Amino acid sequence: MISVTEAVTTILREIKVMGTERTDILSALGRVLAEDIVSPFSIPPLDNSAMDGYAVRHTDSKGASAQTPARLKILGDIPAGYVATQPVGSGEAFRIMTGAPVPRGADAVVMQEDTSAHEGTVEIFKACAAGENIRRAGEDIREGDLVVAAGTLLRPAHIGVLSSVRKAFVSVYQKPRIAILSTGDELVDVDEGFSEGKIVNSNSYSLYALVKDSGAVPLSLGIARDTKESLREKFSEGLHADMIISSGGVSVGDYDFVKDVLKDIGAEMKFWKVAMRPGNPLAFGIISGRPAFGLPGNPVSVMVSFEQFVRPSVRKMSGYKRLFRHVVAATAQEKVITKKGRTYFIRCMVTCRDGRYGATTTGEQGSGILMSMAKANGLMIVPEDRDGVTPGETVSVQILDNEFGSTEDLSY
Ligand code: AMP
Ligand code: MG
Repeated sequence: MISVTEAVTTILREIKVMGTERTDILSALGRVLAEDIVSPFSIPPLDNSAMDGYAVRHTDSKGASAQTPARLKILGDIPAGYVATQPVGSGEAFRIMTGAPVPRGADAVVMQEDTSAHEGTVEIFKACAAGENIRRAGEDIREGDLVVAAGTLLRPAHIGVLSSVRKAFVSVYQKPRIAILSTGDELVDVDEGFSEGKIVNSNSYSLYALVKDSGAVPLSLGIARDTKESLREKFSEGLHADMIISSGGVSVGDYDFVKDVLKDIGAEMKFWKVAMRPGNPLAFGIISGRPAFGLPGNPVSVMVSFEQFVRPSVRKMSGYKRLFRHVVAATAQEKVITKKGRTYFIRCMVTCRDGRYGATTTGEQGSGILMSMAKANGLMIVPEDRDGVTPGETVSVQILDNEFGSTEDLSY
């Protein structure tokens, strides 16, 4: 049996990053950029006005006040999107709008509120300094700047920046396609009739959702029955995908054939058991370059194992730099009993009070109690050298809720 950390390290060593594809930038939101984007020019391209007002030589405004205004001749108007047709000389000014290029000769813009214009002349009521109210060329981006680095998860501001540097198409990492299969003679689908001894195949649904939530493309292969033939057939279908995950059939029961079948179809198996709870049987191997995970069957074990091993793998394949969930320090609100020698992942709810996180378990921790997973926003990690947690102790909690930390303000 290997530790959780050893298992994660062994798995991630085997995971290869996906190839890339071109996409238009509007479709690139939420994708991982696969190339460095360097700006071929400066933004803004020219010095331009930060205000509506008058472009002047600052020396012409020297000593100006409401009582003793400086009087300058207006040469014309420069709306945004146009350039001045002549330079500004001494005793002259251009009316200028925000964003319009500053005309040659001018070195400051006096804001409209400090001026008054009549019949071709503007009065300036306040002295200005050189450079005042001018946005410098290149102050946002300079020619040759690395504006978005490969490995960046593209957010709305990145899409804006890509358009500013005239990148209409970019290279992003392909999303891995992940085949999901459930195993078990006891399984029926959600729309099948009830019959004694049967249970709903909920793992295919939670796995589908976990795969989608991790940014990959789920492909549901349905249910394999507890025979080697059925398993072989379904696993072989999975070879069209970039990764295969199954649930159930990896334990020591009479019908637990997943490991054997993975070997039969050519998988190089890396390990089988991990010292953790929930989840302990876990088969991991590589078939023709594809990672294959035989996850445990219990509804919570499958989700916890996915979080620890599959999600970081999917993120590595997808080109992410950050592979792991955020972990926060929280105060345990109650006693938790664990056994030494295994890492425990305790379903809990983390809340914030007076700037401190507190963690409360969400109830019964049996590996079939899916409701305590549904109520949880985190997993308290109790290390293998501990036999529990006492109230008031500081614990590490892996945060599962993507929205964690956002406050709901119902007044809007
Ligand atoms: P196994 O390791 O195949 O014996 O599975 C362990 C237990 O997990 C089974 O007894 C089922 O109760 C449950 N289980 C297995 N597969 C699924 C599934 N696809 N959906 C829901 N529960 C499952
Ligand atoms: Mg089974």
